[in-house]
Amino acid sequence: PLQFAQLPPALRWQELGTEFYQACPSTPMAQAHTVAWNAEFAQALGLAELTQQHQIADYLIGNQTPQGQTPLATVYSGHQFGINAGQLGDGRALLIAELTDPEATRWEIQLKGAGPTPYSRRGDGRAVLRSTIREYLCSEAMHGLGIPTTRALAIGSAQHTVWRETRERAAVLTRLAPTFVRFGHFEHFYYHGQPQALQKLADWVISHHYPECQSNTNPYLALLNAVIYRTAKLIAQWQAVGFCHGVMNSDNMSILGLTLDYGPFGFLDGFNPAHICNHSDDTGRYAYQQQPQIGLWNLHCLAQALMPLVSKDDLLAALANYQDLFESAFAEELRKKLGFSNWYESDWSLATELFELMQAAQTDWTIFWRTLSHWITEQNDTRLSDLILHREGLQNWLQQYRKRLTIDAQEPKQRSSLMLNSNPKYILRNHLAEIAIRKAENEHDFSEIERLRHCLSNPYREQNEYESYAQLPPDWASTLSVSCSS
Ligand code: AMP
Ligand code: MG
Ligand code: MG
Repeated sequence: PLQFAQLPPALRWQELGTEFYQACPSTPMAQAHTVAWNAEFAQALGLAELTQQHQIADYLIGNQTPQGQTPLATVYSGHQFGINAGQLGDGRALLIAELTDPEATRWEIQLKGAGPTPYSRRGDGRAVLRSTIREYLCSEAMHGLGIPTTRALAIGSAQHTVWRETRERAAVLTRLAPTFVRFGHFEHFYYHGQPQALQKLADWVISHHYPECQSNTNPYLALLNAVIYRTAKLIAQWQAVGFCHGVMNSDNMSILGLTLDYGPFGFLDGFNPAHICNHSDDTGRYAYQQQPQIGLWNLHCLAQALMPLVSKDDLLAALANYQDLFESAFAEELRKKLGFSNWYESDWSLATELFELMQAAQTDWTIFWRTLSHWITEQNDTRLSDLILHREGLQNWLQQYRKRLTIDAQEPKQRSSLMLNSNPKYILRNHLAEIAIRKAENEHDFSEIERLRHCLSNPYREQNEYESYAQLPPDWASTLSVSCSS
């Protein structure tokens, strides 16, 4: 079998014991082939030499497992769309190995879509090519944007179809994270009345991922505080780039504050705070503007699960910090987007007025910020007024903005560079993913996936060869809809 030199002999999950997972083999599929291989990430992981091995596809879809280990599926519960959904678990994800990269970071490696597990419930344990391409591209795009996320290494596919709204090609995503533990893992042991297992899980997460919490008088409270901080910061970063997650259920919330579970996600095109990217989200529970509050709602779920370990007063006091943490993290994002060296309270009204102008004109979120970053050095108002139709409103805003800039010490070049490094030129718009998906599905041509990934890995840099990826979406894009079906 394939030998990964860096693979530790045992999985850390095995320290936890069998209350936490079940061993589960992957289910083979005929005619394995590689759809995508992220050579850049492979290099960073110390796996560059694997690129040459043509049998790799059998590992990517789970026909073979590294070092012959039986994979694990872990158990979790969670709140879905506001309702306690009871036991869920890894219904189509298998932990196949762990790896230590050359920088000594340890990663869990999962195959998503490699067959049913004890937690599949009515699902088939599979993923479709369409959704694996979207997750592959978006995880790497988020990483390129500097936003914490699970990572994607590869996609494998085979001669196997599954039934969704229609017959679709099955595929398997290889994804990595330091850990895939979710809020839902904690909820599971709380709602199943297993306080000892809950504590064991908390101790395990702290020792491997939050060692700095150990010296605290109550390490579990320190853990909650750290997760609150990371979650607030993560969501501030989502808001800044216009990322909509789509299914912020508590089982999709990472204990490490990573973007996790790419399903019906989307990026804002025209600025509409009420934008709902998930076609199945009828009430808009997970609309763009709801995300910060939903982050807090989910943190309440986590805090509730920690009741056996932390006093209620301490939990509530910790949660009460969220709003301020989110606001200062979001202010920090806006500071960079607007090109300021400092953020003053009065800057909120400048930002709010801008949002109102953008909303009225449905201004493209990404293109506007990029154009503003160039305006700093070019002072070309026309390009901005093409985006904000209300001429007087824009002039009035620019006048305030110019005035604000006079009390900021940076040179225009320096400011523009801060803004160009904070306002991406390239994001994964639905239609870009769709073009790559159609080529893959209809023509068996996977080259567009790698081209897009390559471009999105450097979203702040001008890349002339990818100019078309930075354009407004074409008319047909408005007919695209994404749902939970994947
Ligand atoms: P999600 O909506 O992607 O967060 O998934 C919610 C739950 O459904 C998780 O426990 C998943 O593992 C499970 N699930 C989603 N799709 C499938 C599938 N095709 N087969 C088995 N389980 C699935
Ligand atoms: Mg999920
Ligand atoms: Mg999902």
